[in-house]
Amino acid sequence: MDKKTSVMCTLGPASQSRRVLKRMFKVGMNVARINIAHGNFDEYKRMIRNARSVAGIPIAVDIKGPELRIQSRGRCAMMRGKVYPVGFSKRDDLYFSHNIFKQIKVGDSVSIYDGLIKTKVVWKRNGKVGLKVFIPGSFEGNKGVNLPGKHLNVPLLSGKDKEAIKMSIKEKVDYIALSFVRSASDVSNLRKHLGRSGIGIISKIENHEGLQNLDEIMEVSDAIMVARGDLGVEVHTERLPLIQKSMIVKCNIKGKTVIVATEMLKSMVESNRPTRAETSDVANAVLDGADCVMLSEETSVGKHPVEVVETMSKILKEAEPYVSSKIPFIRSESIHMAIGKAVYDICQHLPVDKIVTLTRSGHTARLVSRFRLNKDIIAVTDNQAVDRKLRLTYGVKPVMYKNMPPREKIKNTALFLYKKGLLKQHETVLFTAGVHTEKEHATNVIQIHRMKELLKYCRKNK
Ligand code: PGA
Ligand code: MN
Repeated sequence: MDKKTSVMCTLGPASQSRRVLKRMFKVGMNVARINIAHGNFDEYKRMIRNARSVAGIPIAVDIKGPELRIQSRGRCAMMRGKVYPVGFSKRDDLYFSHNIFKQIKVGDSVSIYDGLIKTKVVWKRNGKVGLKVFIPGSFEGNKGVNLPGKHLNVPLLSGKDKEAIKMSIKEKVDYIALSFVRSASDVSNLRKHLGRSGIGIISKIENHEGLQNLDEIMEVSDAIMVARGDLGVEVHTERLPLIQKSMIVKCNIKGKTVIVATEMLKSMVESNRPTRAETSDVANAVLDGADCVMLSEETSVGKHPVEVVETMSKILKEAEPYVSSKIPFIRSESIHMAIGKAVYDICQHLPVDKIVTLTRSGHTARLVSRFRLNKDIIAVTDNQAVDRKLRLTYGVKPVMYKNMPPREKIKNTALFLYKKGLLKQHETVLFTAGVHTEKEHATNVIQIHRMKELLKYCRKNK
């Protein structure tokens, strides 16, 4: 059986060739992430096209949003106790990606490269700041910077982000992942730039502000990422495991797709096998209720891009039979939410083999998936974009059904899936659909059929 958790792979030099992509897809890659922190537009376009042509998988373009980065000309070794001047322009040897001179204060903590290097601002003069190193380290090129707990007033989108959005619309990608989301209005502003493209938004929660505003951010996002790389610098790392759990439950309750990211199998950047702790981390993310787990450097620059995907898939398959609903008793806020809950209740009492959701926006499939029923959910849609977006969601297998007849939708869908071999004679199947309604999110009926009887009925009433 296919695994139910989706695996998002960050593409890069180690994984951009068609040959490697094909192998990664075969062993379990479901989504490709293009991170615009590195590389150029020719490379992004090539990666998008390669991923599409060999695997037909959904593509997420990760833009950097209000993320602060530091750029070094060549390799920069920061030594303990030394003070390094950092400016704000390309002419400086070391410079920040946003001009925060007015906002940064003497005494502020500045962490560089996922918190590897720790510094403090010791002076400000001539448009530069002096960073004194407490925990030394070295880096090359362009790395993330965190000022834990500090609100920075930087623009939502950089020039490169805007260009990436244009490219994403032109290339018809499926998702944009927005880094360092601060509020719902950040998401709504990005949504305006996306116009009528239908591109989904993954909000990356990576600092205090995003965490504090998670509820309102969730309302307007298509998916949420627990971006542990930066979150682990912005809040104390020891808080991460419980933050991960509580973020995932919130997403499960609302039926929002949730992705757990960063350092999942980090040691496999070099090694050909994971540590025991990493193996547990991947399994625990799924047991917590994640829809999707992400690989970063492991697949973009790692030595074993295929083996790491294969390892992840094996861990996921082993854990999935033990996944159960983390949703507490909740009132349903709408008809389709009640239908989702009713599907869960029915499956507690009746041996249902498969669930089929007829879905316009993909929302019903997510509302059923959130209960983690350990059953295949077939999401039938006539919209290619919905089909691709749903591939992030736990346990959902999207199936395209073009020109679905407007009448007797459930009966026709059952026959369609039976002919495709996706439903079998001996199975009991639960269907959900929106009947006598045209709008989205309008699922209002459940039908349960023994396929054998339904097929007999259809033969008689042709
Ligand atoms: P990044 O985001 O890889 O773009 O930094 C993920 C994270 O911070 O965990
Ligand atoms: Mn990040």
